[in-house]
This record gives sequence, C-alpha cells and structure tokens, in this order.
Amino acid sequence: MTHEELFRNIVAHAKEYGFVFPSSDIYDGLGAVYDYGEYGSEMKNNIKRYWWDAMVRLNENIVGIDSAIFMHPKIWQASGHVSAFNDPLIDNKDSKKRYRADVLLEDYIAKEEAKIEKEVAKGRKRFGDSFDEKKFLATNPNVLRARAKADEVHSKMTDALNKNDFAALRQLIIDCDIVCPISGTKNWTDVRQFNLMFRTQIGNASDDSLDNIIYLRPETAQGIFVNYLNVQKSGRMKIPFGVAQIGKAFRNEIVARQFIFRMREFEQMEMEFFCKPGTEMEWFSYWKKTRLAWHQALGMGNDKYRFHDHEKLAHYANAATDIEFEFPFGFKELEGIHSRTDFDLGNHSKFSGKKIQYFDPDTNETYTPYCVETSIGLDRMFLSILCNSYCEETLPDGETRVVLRIPAPLAPVKVAVLPLVKKDELPETAQKIMNELKYDFNCQYEEKDSIGRRYRRQDAIGTPFCITVDNQTPKDDTVTVRDRDTMEQQRVPIPELHDFISEKVTINNLLRKL
Ligand code: ATP
Repeated sequence: MTHEELFRNIVAHAKEYGFVFPSSDIYDGLGAVYDYGEYGSEMKNNIKRYWWDAMVRLNENIVGIDSAIFMHPKIWQASGHVSAFNDPLIDNKDSKKRYRADVLLEDYIAKEEAKIEKEVAKGRKRFGDSFDEKKFLATNPNVLRARAKADEVHSKMTDALNKNDFAALRQLIIDCDIVCPISGTKNWTDVRQFNLMFRTQIGNASDDSLDNIIYLRPETAQGIFVNYLNVQKSGRMKIPFGVAQIGKAFRNEIVARQFIFRMREFEQMEMEFFCKPGTEMEWFSYWKKTRLAWHQALGMGNDKYRFHDHEKLAHYANAATDIEFEFPFGFKELEGIHSRTDFDLGNHSKFSGKKIQYFDPDTNETYTPYCVETSIGLDRMFLSILCNSYCEETLPDGETRVVLRIPAPLAPVKVAVLPLVKKDELPETAQKIMNELKYDFNCQYEEKDSIGRRYRRQDAIGTPFCITVDNQTPKDDTVTVRDRDTMEQQRVPIPELHDFISEKVTINNLLRKL
C-alpha cells in the first residue's frame, strides 16, 4: 500500500467511525474545517487532559488560564501580526489554483531527498551486508547530484524568504521547473504577501477604520501576554513561572490540505514560560527536552520524532525549533518551541502605555521578563496519534481487522462490556459491571451481533479492553478480558477488574512516567 492510499484509508476510517467529519458535510463541506465526532471528541479531551496536567498540575510554577478569542485590535499590531503574519502566495494562471511559494519549493526539496533515499535502498539491496551507507552517500554520483540540488534550493529559498525577496522566490520556482500539479504548466503569477488573519467587526460600527476591526486570534499566546500582569499579581507568581492555555485559533491558510494537519479553525495548547533575561537559552533547552519526553512517554516510537531547528526565525524569536513527527506524508512540524525574548511584553507595554515588568524581591532588580514558548496544535497531535495507531492486519485464520492501537490512556473508550448471549442473566451482570466501572472509565455496553463482530467494532475505535461475561461468570464470578493489541484473553475475577484496567488506562500513570 502506498503512503497516499494509507492516508486515504485513515481519513475514511476517521469519518466512518465517528472520529472526524468534514464540517458542514451535508453541504459538501467547508475547506479545511472539520468537526470531531463521538469518539474524536473523547480522544481530543484525553489529549487536552494529558497536556494540561503535565503542564499545570505537575508544575507548581505553571498556572492555566482561558482568555477570550476576541481581543483589542491593537494587540495584533503590537504582536506584529498585522504587518508580518503573512505567507508568500503564487497563482497558476491556467488552473487558477493558489499555492504557497515556500511550500512548492519545500515539496521540490523533499522530492530530491526522496531520490537519495531511493538510491540508498537500491545500494543496500545490491551490496547486501557489505553496504557502507556513509561511503555510499559521500560518493554515489546520483546521490551527490540530488544532495547538491536540494541544498542549493534550500539555501536560495531561505535567503529569499529572509530578505522578503519575492522576485527571487518566483525565479527559483521557475528555475526548478516546478509545474502546477493541476494544469501541468509553469505559467505563474508574481509572488504576493497574504495576511493569514480573519477579520470581522465588533458591535454596530459601520466604518472600516482599523480601530473597529476585530481579528479572530491566529494564536492563543497573545491572550497570555496581555494577562501577564493580572496573573502575576493574582497568582503571586515568582519568576520563573509559566502560564498555559488551550483554545481555538484561526488562520486563513492558503494551502489547506492533508486533512486536519492544516486547518483554518484549529486548537492550540500553548505555554509561555517567563524567565530572567539571559537565562532563556537554558529554559529553551529545558523545554525542548521536557516536551520531547512528553511525546515519547506515549510509547509510539522514539524514532518517530526529531527536532528541526529554524534558520528563518519568526519576527519575535532568538531561537526556535520544531518537534517533527513522521506522518504518512513525511516528517512535519507537530510542536514549536520558541524563545520569544521580551518582544511581546515589551511591545504590549509600548502599545498599551502600561508598565509590564517584574520586580525581583530577592535581588531588587526590575526587568521585562523573557519568554520561552511551547506551542502544539491539538489537532495535529490528534492526527499523529490516529496515523500512528491505524493498522490493517491479517490474522492467523486469514480474517482481516482494522485496529487503532491508540495509547490506552488516550483511547476514547477504555472498556467494552459484552454479555456473550442475551440470556441467563448475563446482560444483567454485564450492566452491573458497567455501573461499577463507568465512574472511572469511559465504558460501552454492547449486546448486539456475534462476539467476534463486537470485538472488531471495538478494535476499530481502539478500545484497549473488552470484558466478556460468559457462561462461566455465574459459576465463579470471573469474566474474560481481551487485550486489543495481542487479542489474548484472560480470566479476571470481577472484584479485580477495576485495578486491572486502571493500571493500563489512566492518564495519571502516563504522567508518572514524566
Ligand atoms: P506551519 O509551519 O505548519 O504553518 P507554524 O510554524 O505557522 O506551522 P506555529 O505558529 O508555530 O505554526 O503554531 C504552533 C503549532 O500550532 C504548530 O506546531 C501546529 O501544531 C499548530 N498549527 C499551526 N497552524 C495550524 C493549522 N493551520 N492547522 C492545525 N494546526 C496548526
């Protein structure tokens, strides 16, 4: 199966089993906007809880807030988003399709890199055990050609982006012979800047002056910066301290594709960590390490993550890295960690006229705190789990199953309680078990269809455990517990069920690993 086919199957599965639906589905959808279904919203809540507790509960010096989406328009001038939150776009005159110029070039670079991987695979096959990958990479002419091309395009692109040189960006697209995937032509317009913020108006203001424009926030971070003084005072916070927030963000993305990877309405989980100027690099490495450990604790494979340090820094950063995840369409950004200096607090101080500073009672110093941010897209996190857990399997008896091997603490349903047959009081016993467990775990009761079909349905939504009440249950008060991943069954006494399940599925046990 190709990566594209796999990804298509994942998207179809997400819809069929109530994880993610296209928004406004009966009206044929709305571009890059999605709704979460009955299982999707459960899983999303679990991810939020894992993040929130890891940040706010486990760290005495981090507190959480929930700020409004609508904010004073000046905030977006102070933050630099009105002038600098732009993407370079280019249109193909024949297909009338719009692209991000940098994405076209990144795709080109990825293709050159894929050529290198292909050559390596060929070499490995040809030379077998004696294959020396390092030497091959340093000497094979096809590899060297592709490497040189990828590096050249990358360096020219970074240079053009840093200088906002759109003519150079366009020329590079033409020099690389990049064609529009729809029309197949190189008939490109000039590259233009496109601001990604959605605008609306507040109240009954009829004039279009800047003061009345309300932007839908493109990041949740600014809600934290403008509440810095409030939280520092009300929470009596001492530097270093962090403020965390989960909430919606909106970006009018030019290229909306890859399902919930790039959406126009999405959710972010952001934490701004305020520290003393000069200590920010220490905190930057601390949060890099801490955030990677949070991902790795899920057990989806450490080789699925890598850091990508930024060469082109955003207007507010003095260091930045991405934690990338290996999606079916390659390694892509999952989370950003940015050292934002005093840019935000400093500018809000300037624009609002309020002094935003910290007085250190231990040293009697007053300063504008520096800030290190960790920012992860909830929907991208969701997608990483969905993609990683989706598995099509052929079983020893020749049957096939689709199973979602979701890390158990994040699975939408933790336990399915299934009476083997609808008689001999088995349903009543199953209901009793359900009534005991439902206060601690999201449980599902099912009595329809054969037990095999019920197992398959639970596999398809990633339920870690199926409890079957069978004919032996009335005799010895035990049930079978079937494990989603191994499909092994074991008998467990009913009074021990709670602890048996709890050990594997609670978020607290995941948090203890951190
Ligand atoms: P990209 O380069 O993919 O556009 P970005 O660098 O602009 O992302 P940030 O501004 O650093 O992203 O946002 C922090 C996080 O928010 C990202 O790591 C990502 O997980 C998430 N995110 C950003 N834009 C979107 C989007 N359009 N849809 C879904 N998640 C997003």
